[in-house]
Amino acid sequence: MKRVAVIGGGPAGLMAAQQLADAGCEVDLFDAMPSVGRKFLLAGRGGLNLTHSEPFEAFAGRYASRRPQIEPLLRTFDAQALRDWVHGLGVQTFVGSSGRVFPIDMKAAPLLRAWLHRLREAGVRFHMRHRWLGWAGTGAHVPLQFESPEGRLTRSADAVVLALGGASWPRLGSDGGWVPVLEARGVPVAPLRPANCGFDVAAWTPFFAERFAGQPFKSVAVRVLDAGGEAVTRKGEFVATATGVEGSVVYAVSALLRDRIAAHGTATLWVDLLPDRSEAQVLAAVRHPRGSRSLGSHLKSRLGVEGIKSALLHELLPREQWQDPLRIAQTLKAAPIELVAARPVAEAISTAGGVAFEALDGGLMLQAMPGVFVAGEMLDWEAPTGGYLLTACMASGVVAAQGARRWLGMAAD
Ligand SMILES: Cc1cc2nc3c(=O)[nH]c(=O)nc-3n(C[C@H](O)[C@H](O)[C@H](O)COP(=O)(O)OP(=O)(O)OC[C@H]3O[C@@H](n4cnc5c(N)ncnc54)[C@H](O)[C@@H]3O)c2cc1C
Repeated sequence: MKRVAVIGGGPAGLMAAQQLADAGCEVDLFDAMPSVGRKFLLAGRGGLNLTHSEPFEAFAGRYASRRPQIEPLLRTFDAQALRDWVHGLGVQTFVGSSGRVFPIDMKAAPLLRAWLHRLREAGVRFHMRHRWLGWAGTGAHVPLQFESPEGRLTRSADAVVLALGGASWPRLGSDGGWVPVLEARGVPVAPLRPANCGFDVAAWTPFFAERFAGQPFKSVAVRVLDAGGEAVTRKGEFVATATGVEGSVVYAVSALLRDRIAAHGTATLWVDLLPDRSEAQVLAAVRHPRGSRSLGSHLKSRLGVEGIKSALLHELLPREQWQDPLRIAQTLKAAPIELVAARPVAEAISTAGGVAFEALDGGLMLQAMPGVFVAGEMLDWEAPTGGYLLTACMASGVVAAQGARRWLGMAAD
């Protein structure tokens, strides 16, 4: 029987382990943490957005410049395959109003429990608290080396699937510690960077930071410039933090903002605080006679601008411009928030960068290390939230397992 070591028990590694065990391999799964699937469980706190129901064409487009590399993975295991797999574990799914797909109870724990039960039944052996350190020596077939509660040990396998995750939320296990190990073996790795992340502003005033950190900007639209200078707009909401901004609509444009900051030092997030009104309508409302009322109560009664939206206006408009209706209307329609840095990858939802696809064959095997396969977020791709992360992680787990089976001389689908 062929022995395969799967290292990393996130969704990518667990999916690879399942495929290999179902195909009759002897599978040992190693993870540095005391239990597997910790980030998967954390994702469950937000409802566990498994995948998305939009048509394949739109879905594949979410991987932007990595579409050519991710699309073949999705053709092997797509959103429907993922839903079928979840149903096969006895968990039903539903499509939310945004097209996102969730388990019916919006929890990750029951799904993970059922999955682990199935893996154990299929014979997968779990080795927790085994931190992979690399290979014990040089050459392609030297044993794997682990730090374990019993001390340092080595294990051999006929094939290896690495599914070690990115570098976000390192306390859940994925800390990017594998980067120097693979680089030392000649594997090209694009620097790990934050994806779906928050940003720091140049400076909120102490008043704004103290009073409004944690408060949401609801029903707004944001606009950013892409690398070619084209405007990209998204509607939604985000939250002010003590040092900047974070939240869903910021995450949606975070790759553009991150890359713009890297190229130019800063990036502007233009916020339309009144996306359902034209600038002319806003200007007319600002200009409307207000009698003895303060400007603040005028904007509140005519435009519903209050709380954090009004505070942002105060942050951005110098005192003298408060007499200028045009400047006020322009700022309400395009409040420029200057961003100076992405928050660290440790705080991000996901990781950009990773093992370069050029280093892999179509079965996700490292060309520099035959018999070693790579899956999940440790590959060099990124995607927005919406279920695209888990779908590609699991699809890559399926493809890496198929690649391993082919390499081991076992028939793969
Ligand atoms: C707050 C939050 C919410 C999220 N919500 C969603 C969501 O709703 N939908 C979605 O699609 N995605 C979501 N994601 C992203 C998703 O969880 C990840 O993309 C996914 O878990 C990555 O899977 P993976 O298997 O590649 O890596 P991981 O899940 O990170 O697993 C990697 C595993 O490798 C182990 N490991 C690392 N290094 C070593 C080592 N040296 N030796 C041994 N083991 C090691 C780790 O302990 C870990 O168990 C969310 C992420 C976060 C942080």
